[in-house]
Amino acid sequence: MFYTNREFVILNAINGRTSNLNLSILKTIKPLLRDALAEWLFLSEISNPDKRAKGKLTVVTFHRVLPENLRQQYPYPGISVTPEELRWCCGFFNTYFSVGPLTSIYERWLNGELPEKPFLAITFDDGQLDNFQYGLPILDEFDFKATFYIPASNIDEEIILWHDQIGYCALAARNNGEKAMQKTLELAQTYGVPVKPTSAFENHIIQHSKRISPEKRKQFIEALEHMLKTSPPEWGRLMTWDEIRLMHQQGHEIGSHSMTHSLMPQCKDKELEYETIESKRRLEEELNTEIASFCYPNGNCDARSENAVRIAGYTNAVTTQWGKNQPWQPHLQLKRCDVNIFNNQNRKQQLSAARFSLRLSGLQPGL
Ligand SMILES: [Zn+2]
Repeated sequence: MFYTNREFVILNAINGRTSNLNLSILKTIKPLLRDALAEWLFLSEISNPDKRAKGKLTVVTFHRVLPENLRQQYPYPGISVTPEELRWCCGFFNTYFSVGPLTSIYERWLNGELPEKPFLAITFDDGQLDNFQYGLPILDEFDFKATFYIPASNIDEEIILWHDQIGYCALAARNNGEKAMQKTLELAQTYGVPVKPTSAFENHIIQHSKRISPEKRKQFIEALEHMLKTSPPEWGRLMTWDEIRLMHQQGHEIGSHSMTHSLMPQCKDKELEYETIESKRRLEEELNTEIASFCYPNGNCDARSENAVRIAGYTNAVTTQWGKNQPWQPHLQLKRCDVNIFNNQNRKQQLSAARFSLRLSGLQPGL
């Protein structure tokens, strides 16, 4: 069939309108359906933790606890909760779980203890000051004890983690205008980090930076900080040994998050020994207690890394592999559920027990 130009234009316009209409209907309906499904699965106890988590070990991961104004100044807001959101999460855990630090909960669970509410361990990665400043008072409200994973060398040297160093630089490049962004992209290119100025620039630069060698990454960070004349904000620092000691004295578990937060599969054998054995030694020296738990930086765990953790003498180790643990899960590859608060909100952007339960249930973590 042939159309005149005029007919063709009209048909295109109608088709365009129809697809736009379909798109906007879909945009309205999808959150409604998503919330309704989550509510139904929750109320019918299909996703309810009482059923889904019974007899299993759930381990949740938090990274940062920042008030809203600081979260907006942090390059990766998705890995931060506000104190109010943490309070909401703790209330949810209190209703459905028996909560505690990982190693003690894990041992009780392995010994066959079956509490009325299933076990859940709360973990915090990276040793950020905000965990102490904003997280601890909320945990105290519920009398919860958690596990905090500490990168020992970063605490010794009082330097923030390399992914945060890059993140603050990326944010500065974005905020300093087009010229700074262009220069950053050119510099990144020379270090083998081919990024584009997209809306997810901060995340892309990190993902690409993980692919270059640790030595090159270090040089890249120094060059970036020098060029952008940027330094991390005071609120962005890590905890001190005194703050970590205080948490330990209050009954929280301290675990190792390596020495330098290196990506372990990239490490040579000697470096693996350093990251696992030396971090255990440093933490034990500072806290005068045995360190039992290890957390693989960035969740990167391969056979060599696992073996290094075993040789160092840790009794359990956590990954970023999503899910709850069954008793047969290897003790140096425990699964966790990372809490991204934006995935636990309903269509009105309110935190929802039904949505959180659905994510924790593993039925559809990406929903
Ligand atoms: Zn980490």
